[in-house]
Amino acid sequence: MKKKHLAMVLSRLEGFRNPKPELEQYRTPGSVAADLLWLALSMGDIENKVVADLGAGTGVLTVGACLLGAVKVYAVEKDASALEVLMHNVRAHSIEECVEVVHSDVSEFSGRVDTVVMNPPFGSQNPHADRPFLIKAFEVSDVVYSIHLAKPAVRRFIEAFVGDAGFSITHRVTLPFEIPAQFFFHRKRLERIRVDVYRFQRIAGRK
Ligand code: SAH
Repeated sequence: MKKKHLAMVLSRLEGFRNPKPELEQYRTPGSVAADLLWLALSMGDIENKVVADLGAGTGVLTVGACLLGAVKVYAVEKDASALEVLMHNVRAHSIEECVEVVHSDVSEFSGRVDTVVMNPPFGSQNPHADRPFLIKAFEVSDVVYSIHLAKPAVRRFIEAFVGDAGFSITHRVTLPFEIPAQFFFHRKRLERIRVDVYRFQRIAGRK
């Protein structure tokens, strides 16, 4: 599969039926998800790996990771209606055996995985809504891919938080990201923002 093809497949998945602003339910754009997953694939973090998708939503990253050869993806999501959409998308690609749905808050997830992929809330509705995601990711995996706003204050926070957790930033790629305007103001149909896709890796010996 080529990256472009993956982006197209992921952008055609069913989206949130009734997106909840308080949960920051905007799907990961197919192109952003494909860039994140392609980086992960090229780093050897997907194929034959056990993956967790924290805040899996409609399953864009979950489906993509399975299509690229993950053996198992835990799709952790607390919203039941999002999980209905996720299951629909999983069935549409016949990857049921690859996906393990975990209907819970990310804080409750336990286990060890090879790789975390996630598109956490950016914290525009609830400041710091991304923190439980980062904390859990660093608890369950040595390698984490995550998406955050490309803003100086957010970058400073991420750099400090990641370092304190014993991780380093090995990659950071800045990409455009479209969010339906319902989550912000209604002046425009789409809000175009910029995000950073990160790869974090545990510093040897830190735990
Ligand atoms: N990557 C997904 C969704 C990203 S939006 C997609 O592309 O569809 C963030 C998701 O995190 C939403 O589905 C929201 O319901 C979920 N979420 C927010 N806070 C959560 C929490 N504390 N525990 C579990 N899921 C949460």
